[in-house]
Parts: sequence; C-alpha cells; structure tokens
Amino acid sequence: MDSQKKFEKTFSFELFPPKTEAGMEKLQANVKELAAVNPLYFSVTYGAGGSTQERTFQSVEWLVSQKLDTAPHLSCIGSSREEIIEILEHYKSQGIHRVVALRGDLPSGAGLGGIGDLNYANELVTLIRETFGDHFHIEVAAYPEFHPQAPSAEADILNFKRKVDAGANAAITQYFYNPDAYYRFVDSCEKLGVDIPIVPGIMPITNYTNLIRFSDACGAEIPRWIRKRLEGYGDDIASIKAFGIEVVSAMCDTLLRHDAPGLHFYTMNQSEPALKIWKNLGL
Ligand code: FAD
Repeated sequence: MDSQKKFEKTFSFELFPPKTEAGMEKLQANVKELAAVNPLYFSVTYGAGGSTQERTFQSVEWLVSQKLDTAPHLSCIGSSREEIIEILEHYKSQGIHRVVALRGDLPSGAGLGGIGDLNYANELVTLIRETFGDHFHIEVAAYPEFHPQAPSAEADILNFKRKVDAGANAAITQYFYNPDAYYRFVDSCEKLGVDIPIVPGIMPITNYTNLIRFSDACGAEIPRWIRKRLEGYGDDIASIKAFGIEVVSAMCDTLLRHDAPGLHFYTMNQSEPALKIWKNLGL
C-alpha cells in the first residue's frame, strides 16, 4: 500500500440516472445534501441501451447546471467509435473534464463480443487519449475480488494494468467488505509498477435482499458474519441500516488509516447512509 500514501485523498459520490420525474426530484434533493460536504465530484452511471443513456445525459446536464464537478460514466460495449467520440465531444463542450471509462455489460441475452468497435475498457481509454489528449481525467474500474469473467486473478490484474498503461489517471474499485482483498490487490499492482490512486468503492448496506442480488451478480463477497447478522434482522430495516452504517464506517476508517487514497460512495441516490458514514469518519 506504500504507493498510495502520496496521493491526495479524494471523496466522490456515484449516482444512477432515475427513470421517472419523481426519481429525478429525489436525486436532486439528495445531491443538494451531498454537495454540502464538498465532494471532489459526482459520477453518473451509464447503461448499454438507448433510453437509459438519454437519462444519463439529462442527469449530467442537471449536475453541470448546478456547477457541480461531474464525471459521466461511459461504457464502450455495443457502441461505435464515432458514437463514443460524439458523446465525449458533447461532454467536453459542457466543460466536463473527468469520465469513468468502462467496458460495460450488454443486457442479458445479447451475448458478448462482436457488437460495437471496442471490446475492452483499455481500448476505450486509448481512444479517449488518442482523440482528446489530456483533456479528460480518466477513471477506470478495478476489482479487488476479481472480475467475474476474468480467467484468473493474475490475468485480471494484468488486464487492469492495460488500462493504466493506456492512460488511466485513477481507479475506483468494485465494492467489497474484505479490506484484505483490497490491500493485496493494491500491493500486486504496485509490484507491476502501477502508480495511480486506486480508490475503494464503498457500498453502504441498507437492504439485505438487494445487497445479496447485486453482490452475486458483480462478484463481491459478503463475509459470512455480515450475511448472518443481516439475515438475523429479518424485516427490521432500522436494525439493518444501523448495523450497516456501523460496519461500513469501521471499514472505511480502517481503509483510510491504511493509506487508501479516498473513498467513492455508491450512494444509490440516497444521501443519508453516505452522510452518516461521512460523519462517523469525521471527514
Ligand atoms: P474491462 O476492464 O474491459 O474488463 C472486463 C473483463 O475483461 C475482465 O474480466 C478483464 O480481466 C477482461 N479483460 C480486460 N481487458 C482485456 C483484454 N484486453 N483482453 C482480454 N481480456 C480482457 N457498468 C455499466 O454498465 N455502467 C456503469 O456506469 C458502470 N459503472 C461502474 C463503475 C465502477 C467503479 C465499477 C467497478 C463498475 C462499473 N460498471 C458499470 C460495471 C462494469 O461495466 C462491469 O463490471 C463490466 O463487466 C466490466 O467493465 P470494465 O470496464 O471493468 O471492463
């Protein structure tokens, strides 16, 4: 973890584009509360498929209109080079300087590969650098517990390094509840000469069923002791939330003490859990 010590700590909040007008109003209210603690930026997720992309553009536009530093996510799977460049030109014209560059996932049933011009996120990073030089600060994804499709842990780390070699400035991790996985991942990257901040992605725990569903899909492990405690609370949402805040705050505190270069919160468009953790950390 030595290499991470020198980086300034950055704090950021991730949002998803709401589907409805009511969802948009809720997002706006929550962003106003989150903005009060002065994060470095807000990021907005982006999905493969037409209508969800339009909602990302709308959410980004609103954040920009509020003069908040905004980092749109951009996935390359299923898109042509021209489409990607057009989107980035638009972001550049809005004064945006930071993007989260991803491969993305195709909707289930679409099959992988063969659609679009770019197959992996390292190719997207290369395209952005070739077309826009240093205009964009590029964030990429990292997987301390490894990407579900990676053939091996080692291959996944080497694939992560490709994105850094292509010009990524920083990384945000998939969420995890095992800090050791993160320390080991960072140490392995360090040995390969990777020298960028690798910021832990933090998922507050607020709902047992959703957490299990997400985690199974993205390959994040819920330690047995956390799973068992959450299971034991049954429908007692207040206890799940209180336990979640306590456990995640303690993990964030440990990560920062071990020189993690900041935290990126998966807010799920809710300000309360992230702000409670923030307060517990005394940030
Ligand atoms: P890559 O880095 O391309 O890796 C994908 C897989 O391919 C890995 O198994 C890797 O080992 C392998 N691989 C990589 N490069 C090569 C190569 N050159 N040759 C062979 N194999 C290779 N998804 C969305 O749809 N929208 C979002 O907004 C979004 N935001 C995210 C934000 C964060 C911080 C994270 C961690 C994930 C996010 N995701 C999002 C999910 C992400 O898109 C998926 O996990 C996707 O499956 C992989 O994207 P990636 O950019 O990590 O892909």
